[in-house]
Amino acid sequence: MLGRLIINADLVVKTGLHIGGGSSSVEIGGIDNSVIKNHKGEPYIPGSSLKGKLRSLTELAHNKIGKNEKGENLPCNCGECFICKIYGVSASEENKSTDRLPTRIIVRDAFLKDSIAETMRRKEKDFKDLELSYTESKWENSIDRLTSKANPRLFERVPEGAIFDLEIIYTIYKEEDIENIKNLIEGFQFLEDDYLGGNGTRGYGKVKFENIRFFTKTIKDYTSKQFGDTKASVDEIDDIWIGKLKEQMIDTK
Ligand SMILES: [Zn+2]
Repeated sequence: MLGRLIINADLVVKTGLHIGGGSSSVEIGGIDNSVIKNHKGEPYIPGSSLKGKLRSLTELAHNKIGKNEKGENLPCNCGECFICKIYGVSASEENKSTDRLPTRIIVRDAFLKDSIAETMRRKEKDFKDLELSYTESKWENSIDRLTSKANPRLFERVPEGAIFDLEIIYTIYKEEDIENIKNLIEGFQFLEDDYLGGNGTRGYGKVKFENIRFFTKTIKDYTSKQFGDTKASVDEIDDIWIGKLKEQMIDTK
């Protein structure tokens, strides 16, 4: 192993975000579909949701979507391509793969930025019309295809302007893993042009990665060092940037 790259970013909600909380969550104010929340009752983005979305968008873009017998989409499980190397393969395939290295990426659960959570609680600035503590509700109408009857449902959403603290840890075993960072960042771009969570076709879930910061930890000197300048956006990760990272990760070994 050469080291680790730690990526921190602000994930900014641009249009109401709905990541479902499941049936066990407490329903408030007649909401049919609540969002997932932590023990403090604050909405968050499960790392698994974000990782899954980044992976599936990357697979879609690179024509790597697998199918099961029923024709449903499955993640690629070849163990050879860059997508399997970044995002991992199932445990049974891991042993068969020639790569035989564990999944490179860990996506942490992303929680609301403290200052934003505070502003939401106080219902200040952009959040003065917020109906619930951290969320808003929106009616969506769907038409029953058999009876043509309208079926209005109330969705809970994280409002525009919410910001989540994102942390991704990417382990670098060999030089090729440094090259693959471009593909990881490309996934961020795909997501910005797509949506996170549910109801994307109704305009929900537009997000943006802002204020991206990179930290490296090389195995020889396992302390965190800021790498490069603070990046404002995903388009600044180019070959020059990758070259500099290689120098830092490999020369110190
Ligand atoms: Zn693969």
